[in-house]
Amino acid sequence: MANGNHDSSMNRALDEVTFDMPNRRVRSDSEGDGNFAARRGSRIHFGIDYLFVVGEEVPSPVAGRVHRIGYCYDDDHGYRLIEILTHNRKAIVRLLYVAPAVRAGDFVTEGDIVGQAQDIAARYDSSMKNHVHCEVFVDPAILKGGRFEEIPDGGGDSSGGLSV
Ligand SMILES: [Zn+2]
Repeated sequence: MANGNHDSSMNRALDEVTFDMPNRRVRSDSEGDGNFAARRGSRIHFGIDYLFVVGEEVPSPVAGRVHRIGYCYDDDHGYRLIEILTHNRKAIVRLLYVAPAVRAGDFVTEGDIVGQAQDIAARYDSSMKNHVHCEVFVDPAILKGGRFEEIPDGGGDSSGGLSV
């Protein structure tokens, strides 16, 4: 941003959050590059694809509270997503293609197992390496000191995923 306030506010908001997906390689195959902001045809990839074997346990990269369990695709409710609201309620981390082992409202710390990696390669092409897609959402309001609202206890499932 021109005046630099955006960046400094963003840094203040996020430096209270640590993020870790240890010893995990980023996907790169003929179906796509798993790095953040990689080009996918006319789209941009707004996440990071970490390589996971199907069925492998997926750790939470942050400490926080499970915000929502949802579906990745409206036409196939087999693929699930998990959203974790960071402990300071300034960011939401979304993990896609994870069979949840947690429920909305559960507290997690960094490294806690939140589920098992699903077989996302099966939905696409055999040349796709299996992975967990991870993205981080920041509410622009946090730049003015706002925070995400906690969901009420017992929040249910809902749709609303993004693509690989
Ligand atoms: Zn992805």
